[in-house]
Amino acid sequence: MCGIIGIVGKSDVAAALYDGLTVLQHRGQDAAGIATVDGPRLRLHKGNGLVRDVFTPPEMSRLTGSAGIGHCRYPTAGAESADEAQPFYVNSPYGIALGHNGNLTNAEEIRQQLFAQDRRHINTSSDSEVLLNVFAHELAIQDRLDVTRDQVFKAVAGVHSRCRGGYAVVALVLGHGLVAFRDPHGIRPLVLGQRWTAQGMEYAVASESVALDILGFELLREVRPGEAVLIGYDGSLHTRQCAEAMPAPCIFEYVYLARPDSIIEGISVYQARVRMGERLAERILQLRPDHDIDVVMPIPDTARSAALVLAARLDVPFREGFVKNRYIGRTFIMPGQGERAKSVRRKLNAITQEFKDKVVLLVDDSIVRGTTSRQIIQMARDAGAKKVYFASAAPPVRYQNVYGIDMPSSQELIAHGRTKKQVQTLLGCDWLVYQKLGDLVDAVRGERADLPRFDTSCFNGEYVTGVETNYLRELELSRSDEAKEARRLSG
Ligand code: AMP
Repeated sequence: MCGIIGIVGKSDVAAALYDGLTVLQHRGQDAAGIATVDGPRLRLHKGNGLVRDVFTPPEMSRLTGSAGIGHCRYPTAGAESADEAQPFYVNSPYGIALGHNGNLTNAEEIRQQLFAQDRRHINTSSDSEVLLNVFAHELAIQDRLDVTRDQVFKAVAGVHSRCRGGYAVVALVLGHGLVAFRDPHGIRPLVLGQRWTAQGMEYAVASESVALDILGFELLREVRPGEAVLIGYDGSLHTRQCAEAMPAPCIFEYVYLARPDSIIEGISVYQARVRMGERLAERILQLRPDHDIDVVMPIPDTARSAALVLAARLDVPFREGFVKNRYIGRTFIMPGQGERAKSVRRKLNAITQEFKDKVVLLVDDSIVRGTTSRQIIQMARDAGAKKVYFASAAPPVRYQNVYGIDMPSSQELIAHGRTKKQVQTLLGCDWLVYQKLGDLVDAVRGERADLPRFDTSCFNGEYVTGVETNYLRELELSRSDEAKEARRLSG
């Protein structure tokens, strides 16, 4: 879960990168960084914290240059230390800065190859540094002083053949241009836009189209799975398919991660969520045609779009029962289960009058650990609800995400190895209803009938790239609360 952006403009781009990162902030609040190219110089500033805290006016004024990339990070692999903030930089060949959203599932194997065969040292546990060094090595072996377009595309093809997993990448190659690419499955999103100025055309790439919107760039299209885009510092745009495209975009972007005003793969995230609400309503009507629901309430904020149409379909009033403190981060961010549990009540408060003596259907986008849901259900009861039903716009989350979404280890997922009935008992609600996976896929696909499949691994354990059991086992250990806490304490 990270946000990336890159711009090649006609004047300084640091301020635009900063603005772009602030609307991608929901993708990662842990660290931020910007790198710009000013003639022969690469300028870089990064650190831990929100975009607004990492960059102060003096630092912004140092980031000169009409091309640059930005990154905001939510740690999914590696330690949570400031050394892992992105972009990463290597001085050879040419000087390259790179920012990455996603996760490599064969990072360990490549790390060893890089050391043993390519004689490259990786200084952090971040797979983005691994990816940067693969790209650098693939460029270096072409062994020419002046890098050509063809060589850049060949280097990206080299990355595709060595790196497995989900990755969307922006990189600055000194003396040449901005390179952006996605893995052959296009698991993580990346869009391309253009903006006409008096000095000529400017191009931008970003994780989500919302970043293009606020900067006045027109959305051209997705960077295709397996495709690379090269924007020369002279403003020229070149693209090449570097690996066969096998599209399987991550469905969790639509469920939870992306902003509703973004368009991913030509699908409006908001409309996908509306369709999820419609499908869920159909399922409720099918399971309980004579339901006794008095009122439908969203768990703010993501579920609101689905809950609103769900209420309309059920012909039941839609009411806001919970108010969210928007000055507090997502509860997931708190390290350790104890802290996380406490923070839900700090984040949400109930409007008691809306619950009194009512049969309430609470709607959330997904149930992950169940921590939030359990407390919210209790809050609804404390507020006087007669019965509390709970609907999830996504199917049960049962498996780890290996492609860059920060999910806990499977053992910490409430639905892992449990039936719906068992989850319902653990949550303490009177009825629990989940979206069916087929319905979720249809709801997201919408008009894009040509999209053959999505990555739905956290729901069904089917990983589009294939993953070794060993890798899953190790990830399981490194993602547990215990492991995260140990890393936090060791700094
Ligand atoms: P819980 O079931 O207590 O883990 O919380 C589920 C809620 O967390 C859902 O309502 C989502 O809004 C949100 N959520 C889902 N996935 C994630 C994630 N990967 N990181 C942070 N929050 C998430």
